[in-house]
Amino acid sequence: MPVRATKRGSERTPLNADADVLICGASFAGLALARELRGAGKRVLMIDRYEIGERQTSACGIPTGWLEALELMGAHQQTFPQLVAHTPYKTVRFDLPWTFSTFDYRTLCGLLATQGDFTFETAKVEERANGEVLTDRGSIRAPIVIDALGWRRVLSNGEPIQPPDAYLSRGLEVHPEGSGDELEIWIDRAVIPAGYGWSFPADNEVRVGVGSFIPRDHVKEPTVKLAQDLQRDTVRYQGNWIPHRIREATEDGIFFVGDSAGHCLPLTAEGIRTALYFGLAAGREIRQVLDGRQSKAAALARYGSFSAQHKWKFEWMLRVQNLVPRVPPRLLGPTLGVTGTRAFTKWSFNHYLNIAPPEFV
Ligand SMILES: Cc1cc2nc3c(=O)[nH]c(=O)nc-3n(C[C@H](O)[C@H](O)[C@H](O)COP(=O)(O)OP(=O)(O)OC[C@H]3O[C@@H](n4cnc5c(N)ncnc54)[C@H](O)[C@@H]3O)c2cc1C
Repeated sequence: MPVRATKRGSERTPLNADADVLICGASFAGLALARELRGAGKRVLMIDRYEIGERQTSACGIPTGWLEALELMGAHQQTFPQLVAHTPYKTVRFDLPWTFSTFDYRTLCGLLATQGDFTFETAKVEERANGEVLTDRGSIRAPIVIDALGWRRVLSNGEPIQPPDAYLSRGLEVHPEGSGDELEIWIDRAVIPAGYGWSFPADNEVRVGVGSFIPRDHVKEPTVKLAQDLQRDTVRYQGNWIPHRIREATEDGIFFVGDSAGHCLPLTAEGIRTALYFGLAAGREIRQVLDGRQSKAAALARYGSFSAQHKWKFEWMLRVQNLVPRVPPRLLGPTLGVTGTRAFTKWSFNHYLNIAPPEFV
C-alpha cells in the first residue's frame, strides 16, 4: 500500500492566505507554469490535495526530447526507439523518428518543483466565489489564479462536465512488478471496442492499461484481461477520466492549463507534454505581468489565443479518434502497415511531435 503523505487531522491547519499568483494543481501543468515564474520576486502559492508527486496521474510515457529539454532525465526510466502496434491480424513496428521514454512520476514532479520558486500547501480546492478560491482549509485571494487541476475544471463557473456524458475518455492501468523491452499498444476490439490497450515497461514495473474513447464503456475488465493475457499481476490500479476535446483556456479571468483546458491529445491520450507545453506558455505570459511588462488582461488574451491556435490540430486528431474504431478489423493491420513505412512514419510522427515540440522549452 502506498504511504499517504498528505497531512491529515490536527496537522491540517487552517489556510487563509493572500498571494500574487495562486497555482491550483501541482502536477505537470502547474509545475511547468511555476518554473517560468522563478526569480520574479512575487508570492507564488501552489496548492494540491496531495503532496507533490504523491499520486501518479498517468503511465508516464513521453517523448524523450521533453525530458532532456526540461533537464528531467533524472526521472528517466526506459527509452524505446520503436512503437509496436498489435491489431487482430497483424503486428506493425513503427521505427520512431524520435524516441519515447517512461519516467518515475514522483521523481519528475520533485525535480520540476525545484526549478520553480513557490510556497506549497496541501489543500483541496472546492470552488471559486467572490474573487476567492475556497479550499477545505480556508480561502485564498490572488489577482492571478491558475486552474491546473485536471479534467474537472474545478474553477470554472460554467456547466460542470460530468462523465459519462461529457467529452471524456477513460483510462485504467495496473503497475505490476516486471520488465520488458517494448512499448506496445493493442488496437483490437477484443481488447476494447473503441480505444486501445498498452504496455509501458518502466525499469522494475510494467504499466499495463486500457483506454476507452467511449466514456460509458468500462475499462476495469479489459485491463484485467489484458494484464492476465500478458501474464502480469493485476496490482496497484491507477485510472482517471481523460479529456478529449480542447476547451477555452481562459474564462472569467482564470487561466486553465493542461487537462482542465482539454489540452490532452485525442486518439493517443497523450497529455503530459501538452500540459508541460501549455503550462510553459501560460507561465511566460504571467511572468510578463509580474515583471510589469503587460497587463493581466493582455496575458489572458494572448494565452487564450495561443491555445486556440492549436484547436484545429486537436480537432483533427479527434476525427481520427472517431474514425479508427470504424475501420473493419481485417483492414486495421494493412492500413497500419502502409502508415508503418519508414517515410510515412517519419512524416506523421514528426508532425505529431510538432503539435507540442520540446524545442518550445
Ligand atoms: C491511466 C492513464 C494513463 C495515462 N498515460 C499517459 C501517458 O503515458 N502519457 C501521457 O502523455 N499522458 C497520459 N495520460 C494522460 C495524462 O495523465 C494527463 O493528460 C496529464 O496528467 C494532465 O496533466 P495535468 O497537470 O493537466 O493534470 P493532472 O496530472 O491530472 O494533475 C492534476 C492535479 O490536480 C490535483 N487536484 C485535482 N483536483 C483537485 C482539487 N479539487 N483540489 C486540489 N488538488 C486537486 C491532483 O491531485 C493533481 O496533482 C494518462 C491518463 C490516464 C488516466
